[in-house]
Amino acid sequence: MNVLPTKLCCTSYPLCRSITGDGLRESLRIIQEHIPLEIREVPSGTPVFDWTVPKEWNIKDAYIKGPDGEKIVDIACSNLHVLNYSVPVKCRLSLNELKEHLYSLPQHPDWIPYRTSYYNENWGFCLSQNQLAELQEGDYEVCIDSSLREGYLTYGECFLEGETEDEVLISTHVCHPSLANDNLSGIALAAFLAKHLRGEMLRYSYRLLFIPGTIGSITWLAKNEDRVARIKHGLVVVCVGDAGSMTYKKTRQGNAEIDQVVEHVLRHSGEEHRVVNFVPYGYDERQFCSPAFNLPVGSLSRSPHGRFPQYHTSADNLEFVQPEHLGDSFSKYLEVLHILESNKKYLNLNPKCEPQLGKRGLYRALGGNLDSKSAELAMLWVLNLSDGNHTLLNIAEKSGVSFQNIRDAADNLVRHQLLSELP
Ligand SMILES: [Zn+2]
Repeated sequence: MNVLPTKLCCTSYPLCRSITGDGLRESLRIIQEHIPLEIREVPSGTPVFDWTVPKEWNIKDAYIKGPDGEKIVDIACSNLHVLNYSVPVKCRLSLNELKEHLYSLPQHPDWIPYRTSYYNENWGFCLSQNQLAELQEGDYEVCIDSSLREGYLTYGECFLEGETEDEVLISTHVCHPSLANDNLSGIALAAFLAKHLRGEMLRYSYRLLFIPGTIGSITWLAKNEDRVARIKHGLVVVCVGDAGSMTYKKTRQGNAEIDQVVEHVLRHSGEEHRVVNFVPYGYDERQFCSPAFNLPVGSLSRSPHGRFPQYHTSADNLEFVQPEHLGDSFSKYLEVLHILESNKKYLNLNPKCEPQLGKRGLYRALGGNLDSKSAELAMLWVLNLSDGNHTLLNIAEKSGVSFQNIRDAADNLVRHQLLSELP
């Protein structure tokens, strides 16, 4: 993976994103520099199942001035300083009154927490515990120059047409402000998957969603209810740039093809990893896996959200996300998609006993070469299980041979007219 995804993270990092507003629009525009992204706007007030598209939030400035008139908290230093979705406010108040609107993290006294109040009109500031502890008695001036008005919910959609109408859904949330692993790493990975896939011949069509968390997936599902049956596999991309090992959260179905594929990739990576069952908590997989949809959508991340101390704090910064981890996650995603693309069923054209491989040059003339022996073993598995009921992944799983070796064996047998691909 080249340096561009890291660059995309750096360019987008300072923007004050939220579930609506110009920070989100600008972030989508940056993604648009890399891939063909349709930007969609859904008006505030639009009913989406049990929810309503909220008012649009924008912010120009936010600060607190201390008793001596000095700015002590300033959104210009970090956009995490403002409670995301704060309503406008300009007033003077005492330290005690102010403290009701301040949020800090006592367990990590240097870090600024990330807090939101999307669906409950409120205002507030986030600051480090150390800074909070230094505040003196006196009068404070607070200013939040924000607006919360009828506007739009904005999201981005990239569609890559494949040979079939069957779709693979890749979804990532785009609503967090200056936080790198959650969620810029997901944005960068999804954008560069799209960029990579554009250059390939695809069996599936791919739909990549760049949506605000929760309300974005609910809105997309509400507006595309008639099309969701096309989604055959899906992944929610989150937290893919930290040093932790890979974690896969299975689909609600629990044994979908995507579950089998991701588990295969992780097992054959030889690296430490976790596979966990679906729980109705987390990111947008909750909506895709709600009972009426129950889509085969899992989530592949590194450290799971909420399970690393930097989560939703100023310490989830650009140093926390490292290119080698982002690159490793990217290659795992690509491997998963390549398996999905080629996980087909084949038919043994010579099913009465084994075909004679030796006369076709497919069986070693001399014994003892381990490489050729494993290639032969893979061919025998493919021939035996290509009865129309097993996919290549089923064969890889039953045999313990990697998907790549099973696929190579199948290609070889097709070339020798011993196998044919089933539609
Ligand atoms: Zn988050």
